[in-house]
Amino acid sequence: MARDTGPQCKQCRREGQKLFLKGERCLTEKCGVERRAYPPGQHGRGRKRISEYQVRLLEKQKLRAIYGVGAANIVFLPLANKIKLKLKHESAGRAVVISGLVGVAQGDNPRILQEKLECFLPPGQRSKPESH
Ligand SMILES: [Zn+2]
Repeated sequence: MARDTGPQCKQCRREGQKLFLKGERCLTEKCGVERRAYPPGQHGRGRKRISEYQVRLLEKQKLRAIYGVGAANIVFLPLANKIKLKLKHESAGRAVVISGLVGVAQGDNPRILQEKLECFLPPGQRSKPESH
């Protein structure tokens, strides 16, 4: 994965602001931004002509640095979580159907089967027990 594992205050210097990747250390004067307030590298103090594209790229990379993930994962991690959640819901629904079918196949009493299946529902949505 293409995650930056180099010095973290170097990333602060690249962005030109403190990202607090080192936590407390970034509050002291030991932080790279305090000591050398220009971008890292041979051309760090060179001419400053920032293109429109560079502005957007830097914003994206700042986000990447803060979350500590590769560029692709900025898009795909939330997407993967959504899919996982959807699958979880779907498999829960199938479990209800399967236990219902098993109950029917075993010839369970419909009332008992209803109670069994209502166990899958949250307590507020279950039918009230009939008093005799
Ligand atoms: Zn720092």
